[in-house]
Order: sequence, then C-alpha cells, then structure tokens
Amino acid sequence: MTAMLLNGKELAKKRRSEIKTQVGRLKEMGITPGLAVVLVGENLASVTYVRSKEKACHEVGIYSEVIRLPETITEEELLQVIEELNRREEIDGILVQLPLPSHIREQVVINRIAVEKDVDGFTPVNQGKLLLNEKGLFPCTPLGIIDLLKETGQSIAGKHAVVIGRSNIVGKPVSLLLLHQHATVTMAHSRTVGLKQIAREADILVAAMGQAKKITSDYIKPGAIVIDVGINRDENGKLVGDVDFEAVCEVAGCITPVPGGVGPMTITMLLQNTLQASLWNHHVELAGRIDG
Ligand code: NDP
Repeated sequence: MTAMLLNGKELAKKRRSEIKTQVGRLKEMGITPGLAVVLVGENLASVTYVRSKEKACHEVGIYSEVIRLPETITEEELLQVIEELNRREEIDGILVQLPLPSHIREQVVINRIAVEKDVDGFTPVNQGKLLLNEKGLFPCTPLGIIDLLKETGQSIAGKHAVVIGRSNIVGKPVSLLLLHQHATVTMAHSRTVGLKQIAREADILVAAMGQAKKITSDYIKPGAIVIDVGINRDENGKLVGDVDFEAVCEVAGCITPVPGGVGPMTITMLLQNTLQASLWNHHVELAGRIDG
C-alpha cells in the first residue's frame, strides 16, 4: 500500500474534543446548545443514525431530544411539530431524519425549518448562501470532506477536483465548497461521457455515487487525493465505499477508508453546526476553532 490513509475517525475525535471545550465555555455563560432530531417511523437505518447522533451530542455536552413520530403522521401534523421546534428557545438545531414516508413531501418539510436552526443545511436559503459563499449552515458531509482535505496539509487552491455525484446533500454542496477553496471543479454524474478519463485528471477525486467499488485504480491519477463518500454493501454484506480501496491504494497519494473516513466526520459536522447555530442564535463569539 502506498497511499496515506486519511483517518476520519481520528480527525473526528480531535474535532469532537474541540467542540466539547467550546460547549463547556458556552455552558459557563449559561447557554447549552440544543439539537432536536425528528424521526418519523422505524426505518432501521434511520433509527441507528439517530441513536449515533444522540450519543455524539451527549459526548460533547450538547442537549439532544429525539421526537419520535408514527409512520402514519400527516404532512400537516409534521409541519406543526417543526413549527413548535422553531419556536422553542432551547432548541438551536432541528434535523429531520430522511427518508420520510412517501406520503410526506420531504422538501416541504425541510422548507419549514427555521433557516437559523437548519443544522443539516438543506433549506433553500442555506443552499443559496452556500452558492453565494455567504455565512450560513452548510451540509455536514461536504463540510467534513473539506476538513479531511485540509488535514492532508496540501492546498486545495488550484487543484483540479472531480466530484462524481450531483445530489443536493453531497455532490453539489461539496463542489461549491471546493470552488470556494479555489479548486477547479468538474462535476460528473450518471450521464457523464468518458468518466474514467475525466476522473484520471483529478488531483482530488470525490466519489459520491452510491455504487460499490465502482472506482477502480484505472480511474486514478497517480498521487491523487481520493475521498470515498459511498456507503454500500458488497455481495457478502460487507460495508464498502464507491472506491475499490485495496487497488486504489496502490495508485493514490491519500485515501479515506470506508468505514472510518467521511462517515465519522459527518456527525461531527452536525455537532459543529449545532454549536455554530447556538453561537449565532445567542449572539456569542468564542475565540478558537469553530469551523475549518
Ligand atoms: P444520490 O443517490 O442522491 O446521488 C448519487 C449521484 O451519483 C447521482 O448524482 C448520480 O447521477 C451519480 N451516479 C450514480 N451512478 C453513477 C455512475 N455509474 N457514474 C457516475 N455517476 C453516478 O446519493 P447521495 O449523494 O445521497 O449519496 C451518495 C453516496 O454517499 C451513497 O452511497 C450514500 O450512502 C453515501 N453517503 C454517505 C454519507 C457519509 O456520511 N459517509 C452521507 C451521505 C451519503 P444522476 O444525478 O445522473 O442520477
């Protein structure tokens, strides 16, 4: 193996300890950041994610509350729950765990979250702020990716970044964040022609497609930084990324593993966003690191 491992688990640990310190300082001022997680139904993966988010909040001293709602809840009733959370002062961040049952329109629900409490960064206003490179709350996975890239010690500016995937939660926002860091960005997707050639030109390759081990070593420019966002199960049920890890390690310069790469950073950035929302909501500034 030649590539350097970009250890998201380690970085997440470091960041969570920094967040814990900042939360402690905020508590000394009588303020406890609070996160409300809305869980509709009992989708197994969602229940697991929500549990990890609760645990992570607890670890750093953020107050967390899970609002468990039945699968049968109507869209209007769910909107009322969001409105109530928007009004509650002790709640700085609101997260609606996706996916929602099919009778509920996800974007309608997300749009109802107060912009200043939108710690997932999914509301159109925060997505717009990201586009304009203004201050706002931005999606957690892309924030985690930028933090991991900075850990390499290499400058993002001037590099050619190729992002494979154009979803609103990963592909598009990470492309914008990379652009704001002065990378030259190419976005690729399922209709892209000549993906392999394009990927091979990347100094930074972000794979966010949801296709197990699709990115093989012939997609990689020697020495490239490879960020694997994918979470998939292979034919044996093993958790794998979008990148064929073992083979790509022989060519890449740096690589994130799955698990232990981007995943742990995502929840960490949720904690960071909740802290950030709390600081903004209370008009408090703390010295030290809050964001990248
Ligand atoms: P989506 O399914 O919303 O988007 C996938 C994107 O990949 C689409 O833009 C699609 O193109 C593109 N794509 C699919 N197949 C190909 C292909 N063969 N070649 C090129 N492009 C392709 O997924 P998400 O963005 O939500 O998530 C992507 C992956 O990241 C998933 O595995 C997900 O589980 C994982 N994930 C991991 C997180 C973490 O914390 N580690 C957080 C969020 C997601 P098109 O638009 O044309 O359909």
